[in-house]
Amino acid sequence: MDINQFLADRSRLMRASEIRELLKWVTENVISFGGGMPDPSSFPAKEIIEITRDILTTKAEKALQYGTTGGILELKEELIKFMGKVGIKVDGPENIIITVGSQEALDMIGRLFINPGDCVITESPTYLAALQAFRIYGPRIVGIPMDEEGIRVDVLEDTVRKLINDGGKPKFIYVIPTGQNPTGITMNMERRKELLDIASRYDLLIIEDDPYGYIYFGDGEPPARLKAMDGEGRVIYLSTFSKIAAPGLRLGWVAASKEAIRWFELAKQSIDLHTSTLNQYIAAELLRKGIIEKNIPRIKEIYRTKRDLMLQALSEYMPEGVTWTKPSAGMFIWLTTPEKIDTTAMLEIAIKKYGVAYVPGKSFYPNEDRHNDMRLNFTYPTPEQIFEGIKRLAMAIKEVITQ
Ligand code: PMP
Repeated sequence: MDINQFLADRSRLMRASEIRELLKWVTENVISFGGGMPDPSSFPAKEIIEITRDILTTKAEKALQYGTTGGILELKEELIKFMGKVGIKVDGPENIIITVGSQEALDMIGRLFINPGDCVITESPTYLAALQAFRIYGPRIVGIPMDEEGIRVDVLEDTVRKLINDGGKPKFIYVIPTGQNPTGITMNMERRKELLDIASRYDLLIIEDDPYGYIYFGDGEPPARLKAMDGEGRVIYLSTFSKIAAPGLRLGWVAASKEAIRWFELAKQSIDLHTSTLNQYIAAELLRKGIIEKNIPRIKEIYRTKRDLMLQALSEYMPEGVTWTKPSAGMFIWLTTPEKIDTTAMLEIAIKKYGVAYVPGKSFYPNEDRHNDMRLNFTYPTPEQIFEGIKRLAMAIKEVITQ
């Protein structure tokens, strides 16, 4: 029997990840910069054991029971304080919904806002799984180029104006302002203000995806969150426990206007009723006891050290003509090779001959045809793997350049 004959049209928009196909050659001897995983030593495992025991001893009847779709009040109240420390003012718990990671929120955004053919705007390149989440709903995705300071707001405004003139006002602008995935770029303050200003002048919605702001490891603090500067309630703010605690908890949250949150709750009801109650209680305790706050400087230190190592290895080994970003946040360095190289085609050689893997840049572009970038993760590999892997990658690049 052929299952394909029964599929909805929508399902044909779900593309199998090309990357997963390519990374199938990764074996034990291959050093992979391909994943997007945190350093496991950053997980507060011992604390989670204790907290879980306490919760199950004192309130198992609540923690193991169904909960409300919006999430448990204890966690929302802790999040209000947590976000308050970075200048995000949230009126009350009705302005928050707890999600199964930010990934669920991205899917809900597609569900709630995108009709087939609607235009949505993203940075270019952008987070691949956001593109995948949105694509299911059939939008036209317009990518806006970036430079080292973030999204090119001049191009953004021209594009918005043109789209509106053509009768296709964009539904939202999706951005990852701090430690962007995949480039590692942090949008500067001026661009942030300009972005909000454009959104206000053209009456647009902004989706601010902020998994990395709390572990910014540059000097000082990161530029203010868009949500902290949002006087008009036009920013829907997403963040997650995946990088400040552990991704296996599958916990994220959305902060937005009460009205927006009510729509998210409606969308979530039919997806999964609510996020794991037990995990929400764990997260509330991690925040209440200050464990997350104590852990953050440690995570920053681990990431800063690994980033420095990768940057050092890159300048030591990479041939002329190769450039890369110098991130102050996030988990990735974005590397650009000379035009001659197609990083998708090179991956097989890199893995099979040199024992190193990365993610080709191509699939991060919503609609540009670029072939000579790659994303390198520096948080998961060990320091030894970072050095050895970059050395191998440089050899692969040199071989392909001279071909
Ligand atoms: N947004 C961005 C930009 C990410 O990098 C990630 C994780 N890699 C997510 C969202 C989703 O994270 P999670 O579902 O674990 O919260």
